[in-house]
Amino acid sequence: MATTPVHCTIDLQAPGKQVGRLELPRSNNTSGWSHLFVPIVSIAGESDGPTALVVGGVHGDEPEGQIAALRLARETAPGDVTGRLVVVPCASPEASRAYTRLWPNGVNFNRSFPGDPDGPADRQLAHFFSTVLFPLADVVVDMHSGGRSGLCPPWSEMHWVDDPAQRRAMVDAMVAWGTDHHFVYIDIAGTGLLVGEAERQGKVVVSTELGGGGHVTAATHRISQSGLANVLRHVGVLRGEARARETPGIIGRATDVENYLLAPESGLWETFVDLGERVTAGQPVGQIHFLERPDREPAVVCAQNDGIVFVVRAIATTDQGDNVAVIAREVTVEELY
Ligand SMILES: [Zn+2]
Repeated sequence: MATTPVHCTIDLQAPGKQVGRLELPRSNNTSGWSHLFVPIVSIAGESDGPTALVVGGVHGDEPEGQIAALRLARETAPGDVTGRLVVVPCASPEASRAYTRLWPNGVNFNRSFPGDPDGPADRQLAHFFSTVLFPLADVVVDMHSGGRSGLCPPWSEMHWVDDPAQRRAMVDAMVAWGTDHHFVYIDIAGTGLLVGEAERQGKVVVSTELGGGGHVTAATHRISQSGLANVLRHVGVLRGEARARETPGIIGRATDVENYLLAPESGLWETFVDLGERVTAGQPVGQIHFLERPDREPAVVCAQNDGIVFVVRAIATTDQGDNVAVIAREVTVEELY
């Protein structure tokens, strides 16, 4: 095991079900001698099989994956598992309590990887993931959603990776979620993502954006939970047959910067298009109003490619450079292989 300042209270090699926590040293205004606790659950099966790491709550305003992970951790018994299931249901607990995307100190935990044992708390925790948890895992599931700022249909997703065998396994795992939409993306907002480091280590990585807009419907909870269980059956970590849809959901590929539409100016965003709508290049998808300048014409934002609306901005208040929509090109499973 690599040298780490993070203490794990359970033995991740031990049999059976264990509930514990990761403890990070910290010192703050309310306690000079303190630890930040991050819950962790390990469930080892009674036979050999792969290991899956399931992570929720990297961002605190994305409750869908946290609830699916909490239910999975609580409701799964060792007899349900082959190999091992390791669950970190709420990776950023202080952000979850605040219901904010970022940690209270402004850190985006999804830009903290691969981490640093001598860095601040987020980088120490990322380093523990990178050097202890990822090496244990064959499969890494990282559940996100649109949070308060983005509205999207609930989908499973994957980062584009160049290795064909890894990519094919990730495509199959993405489709196994059983959502009506799937998404293939690139990073347009910086490096240091959890999935990027897990992919670099050769893991089969499947992620999600499970709706968003600051609220969660019952249908979203259902697909979050059933999809997670189905992926874990698909990769052989949970017992039972994975269910396969007759045809995958709609797969959107947004691996060009032009797919991501950014606000040209600050103002109030008005959306013209609905999620799932097909649009053509040059078509207006929304406009920015200027609350202090009723005499000014709004700034119209147009699609830069033919495609399907996968994301629209969920909140009107918009700063220059904020993402206002994502227009993905529809592709097939075979095209991704
Ligand atoms: Zn997120």
